[in-house]
Amino acid sequence: MPPVLHSLLTLLLTASAFGFMLTRLFRIAVLVNTGTRGDERLTDRPGERAGKILTLVFGHQKVLEDRLSGLLHIAFLYGFLVLGIGHVEVVLEGLTAFRRAFGAEPFSYASVLPARLTAVYHLSQDLLAAAVLTAASIALLRRWSGRVKRLEPRSRDAETILWFILALYVSFFLLTGSTLLVRHLGDDAALPAPAQPVTSAIAASLQGLSLPVARVIRGAGWWAHVLVFLGFAAYIPLTKHMHLVFAAPNIYFFRRRRFALPPRIDFEKTEKFGVDRVQELPWKSLLDTFACTECGRCNTACPAHMTGKPLQPMKVLHDLKLNLRHGNAEQILAHRDPVGRPLPGRAEEEAATEPTLPLVTKAAIERERPGAVREDGTYLQVNGQIHGDELWACTTCAACVEVCPVLIDSVPGTLLALRQGLVMMESAFPSEATNAFRGMEVQGNPWGAGPDRRTEWAEGLGVATMAELAGKDGGREVEYLLWVGCAGATDPRARKTLQALVKVLQAAKVDFATLGREEKCTGDPARRMGNEYLFAQLARENVGTLGKHRFRKILVTCPHCLNSLGNEYREHGGQYEVVHHSRLLAELLAAGRVPLDLARGLGEQVTFHDPCYLGRYARGFEPPREVLVRLGVKKTEMAQSRENGFCCGAGGGRIFLEEKIGRRVNVERTEQALATGAQTVAVGCPFCMTMMTDGTKAKDAEERLRVKDLAELVAERLAPEA
Ligand code: SF4
Ligand code: SF4
Repeated sequence: MPPVLHSLLTLLLTASAFGFMLTRLFRIAVLVNTGTRGDERLTDRPGERAGKILTLVFGHQKVLEDRLSGLLHIAFLYGFLVLGIGHVEVVLEGLTAFRRAFGAEPFSYASVLPARLTAVYHLSQDLLAAAVLTAASIALLRRWSGRVKRLEPRSRDAETILWFILALYVSFFLLTGSTLLVRHLGDDAALPAPAQPVTSAIAASLQGLSLPVARVIRGAGWWAHVLVFLGFAAYIPLTKHMHLVFAAPNIYFFRRRRFALPPRIDFEKTEKFGVDRVQELPWKSLLDTFACTECGRCNTACPAHMTGKPLQPMKVLHDLKLNLRHGNAEQILAHRDPVGRPLPGRAEEEAATEPTLPLVTKAAIERERPGAVREDGTYLQVNGQIHGDELWACTTCAACVEVCPVLIDSVPGTLLALRQGLVMMESAFPSEATNAFRGMEVQGNPWGAGPDRRTEWAEGLGVATMAELAGKDGGREVEYLLWVGCAGATDPRARKTLQALVKVLQAAKVDFATLGREEKCTGDPARRMGNEYLFAQLARENVGTLGKHRFRKILVTCPHCLNSLGNEYREHGGQYEVVHHSRLLAELLAAGRVPLDLARGLGEQVTFHDPCYLGRYARGFEPPREVLVRLGVKKTEMAQSRENGFCCGAGGGRIFLEEKIGRRVNVERTEQALATGAQTVAVGCPFCMTMMTDGTKAKDAEERLRVKDLAELVAERLAPEA
């Protein structure tokens, strides 16, 4: 090809590929910008944020938890960073090929770098290209093997990119090998070249070809390499590989809080509650969808997915992306300025326009129709939308948040935002929730037990209430306000936990009192089931009640109360130090304040089930285990524990809803507990208590596996005189 034409063609192809890539990426950025702002601070502590990029992107901290996958990704990441320098050289060679028309050589690093540096450059390119080629081959074989569950079903997108990588580096070696051969035949260059061991081997295998044939092969290798490289660049924004661009910014803007929170609602200022269109989600949640690497880690951590429900966190993100990018993009952007911000005066018109593709679907699933429901429970006929069965399946366990290598945390919050829209705007929710909502509204208790029954559990125990203390001595400050919780006040099994805890507290001479009949539900089940209005009402009432009393800390046995009182009541003006009883028990035992008879239950094998709202939400992994160690039991861990703990199935308000689809989450967890061979599974949450107890019943294992709260295990070992 004439040199000038060669340069012009290279220029045209490069400009087209990168122009296409950049306009697509810009459009994605505009679509992300159509999301709502919220009041989250996502740019504070820049040093910490930059540190996350270092550890998670460049250190691959989370990806390396799956060792082989991590090593493959490290080969891709660092391979591309270094090999990118070589790709630039190849393109520059094409752009400057016209110099040949003037008797000069096209650009090459060798023409500007010292010989030693050129040799280092060649060696790095040679070895890393071979490493990436090997990594891509292993990655493809891994996907084909079907042995990695999270990579199922096979993704055509992921495999296409691996083929791209293979083609890129096969053409690379064709180019470098034939280049060396041409130099060898033309200029008598040395073969093998020490700085290019792989290239030398390829050139050696081509030896015997004539110089004209070697030149033709070099030309073909050059064009193949450039075309694959430019095609790769243009392909990125069309596929999940846009995470190469969006993962780092997504990590930088990570949310500092770890809680599955729906977007805040200002009931004074808005008449529309919850979310029913994609642009009503926070921009960060929209960015999450483009940063997702589709690695599938969240799916295999999700208790709903793992028990055959249609919910897959990865698919939720994928469907949100489809809904935004393909379903409704034109319609949304018609009401926005060129960078996606609302146009003045067009917000009402946008709100009045029905989405082209509604975000939530209640479509009936034709379960019998082949292809409607995949073997793993997901709904194939739902594309670009979230089905009601998906959004009600989430237990808000945050397992998907914990495992995500790019810090995507929005799935449970998004599903709660959709529940809000259904509950508060359409009154569309599972019928079983009706009683819980009514109970909380009327009695301040989702089980419907009125204030008069709030103190039944404590009869005869000599537990003071704050009101009684106020009456006696003008309301002295108590150390702990024992927050009983609705389960503790109502459920017979949870009552036993409270009674055991009171025995221990009294033996340890802890100063505490309860709110008695003044206490109301924290509203956690209401918030998690989408009834934000009811949550806000209960939060305000409880904050008002707590404001009347003097206490240093709040003590809870329920991790859901721990989260509401400790983290969420701040929105309603309540700032408290809230302590889970596992922490207090560990402290009391460590301080020797609990008189124990450790001969009782000696040698008992106990496994601890981490409640999601104590473990992942409050990072309370150690205190429960410290309690068990202090009791002298044989502690054993389940297959999934601590950060990777498997939910009991009760969170997210699911304890009030029937589990109609798939296998039961609590039974699955009970099986994990039984597999340890332990005689007792210890819990630290009344919801977990209910679920695990039901699990042992379902497995007919009540004799083999006791379910005991930590407080009960301590109380069982209290010395007789205590
Ligand atoms: S959300 Fe995170 S864990 Fe799930 S597939 Fe995407 S990147 Fe992987
Ligand atoms: S919060 Fe738990 S149940 Fe909900 S999507 Fe994530 S892993 Fe699944």
